[in-house]
Amino acid sequence: MQHFPLFTDLHDRTVLVVGAGVVADRKIGLLLSAGARVVVGAHAAHPQVQARARAGQIILKLALFDPAWLDEAWLVIAATSDRALNQRVAQAAQARRLFCNVVDDAELSSAQVPAIVDRAPLTVAISSGGSAPVIARRLRERIETLMEPALGPLAALARRKRLAIRQARPQLHARRAFYDWLMDGPVLDALRRQRPDEAAARLDAALAHETPAPAGKVLLVGAGPGDPGLLTLRGLRALNEADVILADRLVSPEILALARRDAQIIDVGKAIGGPHDSTQARIHALMVSHARQGRCVVRLKGGDPLVFGRGGEELQHLKRHGVPYEVVPGITAALACGAYAGIPLTHRDHAQSLTLATAHRRADADAAPTGQTRVYYMGIGRLPGLCRQLLDDGVAADTPCALIENGSRPNQRTVLATLTTLPSAAVRHQVSSPALILVGEVAALGADLAWFGQTLDAQAFSPEPAYLHALA
Ligand code: SAH
Repeated sequence: MQHFPLFTDLHDRTVLVVGAGVVADRKIGLLLSAGARVVVGAHAAHPQVQARARAGQIILKLALFDPAWLDEAWLVIAATSDRALNQRVAQAAQARRLFCNVVDDAELSSAQVPAIVDRAPLTVAISSGGSAPVIARRLRERIETLMEPALGPLAALARRKRLAIRQARPQLHARRAFYDWLMDGPVLDALRRQRPDEAAARLDAALAHETPAPAGKVLLVGAGPGDPGLLTLRGLRALNEADVILADRLVSPEILALARRDAQIIDVGKAIGGPHDSTQARIHALMVSHARQGRCVVRLKGGDPLVFGRGGEELQHLKRHGVPYEVVPGITAALACGAYAGIPLTHRDHAQSLTLATAHRRADADAAPTGQTRVYYMGIGRLPGLCRQLLDDGVAADTPCALIENGSRPNQRTVLATLTTLPSAAVRHQVSSPALILVGEVAALGADLAWFGQTLDAQAFSPEPAYLHALA
């Protein structure tokens, strides 16, 4: 082994950074995120570093290098563009038996800073010993895609519950099985869905009993329009996790080739003009039966799974049968075709709205005022006016609406209301930008089918919070 990997606790320990340019600033940021007390020494400082000093984040010494700066340091980083100076810093560190990293100079360094994948408290560090930082960085990108963000909170939860787990599972093999269940089961799923309280409750409940067999689930995944590059990272992870894949005809073979090698792929594509309802019933039955056998089922659909794909019915079926699910959106055909044909779907001068419609519709649909979903971007500041306008246009006052704030982000909130109550609900919950306003009957389904983040005022449409169902 060329270098000995070591994870250091820098909390409240002094680290000296010599140099105060852009490169130094990157290291300073990293050190601060590890809780280090950072002292920066340089004869001149980049405005960003000066700002850090003014904000009290660092101590800045504007002077020529003085070996006395090393007195309190546990670690030294030389990040100047002057090699002779870097060398003097490295020598001063060497004389005091301090480790020193000279940025991008393996020869002068006694310590290397690895490429990092940060899922605190989990950290993966990759080093090529300074011989090929680019390869290490590329590897880091790959590992970054493999390690989903929810692993960090999972590790933090495991740390909090470590004693309880040890007490409830005194034997090593039982403890191992429990940790396996943590990685594979509903606790990680709940964290993915940004529901930390549910995750902790499920962990506690499981500790009180035998370790449950891994629970099955269904991931309803959008495969995008066909180009495998347009599959999402979350979609790719789902394909790697799948035991069974139920694939639509629209899904391209290049995308199926990305699936875990031993996943069972079942073609459930609907033949054009074939008996749709029997195919749909078969899909419903396959999803439930495979999930009930503890499998991870990926239901893979072209484009986005909730745009013209009967994905909504599939979720309702899963919900009725108590099968846990997640939805991974995909790039819908309209977005992909616009982008790849060089056609902007909206344009300041030419188009202010976009309708996704199906050409297959019931003969009477045009006459009916309902059956339409309207989604408004950039509307949160004009919400009362927008609602009034819609009422004036004849949209029913009790039409279900949803305000989705920070969609898909860890702090996602969905507020459910009707067209008349929406403005006051938005004020009550202090909904702010970025948010999307969705108006139409489908919004009410959110009360029942929501699976991610917080849903507020769901009682407007449903008497019970969704996840209590699954816990029972
Ligand atoms: N859920 C899909 C749509 C399913 S309906 C989505 O979000 O895209 C199937 C229709 O989608 C097709 O009849 C066709 O009109 C359109 N479609 C799907 N993929 C397409 C592609 N790559 N190019 C053009 N149209 C596509």
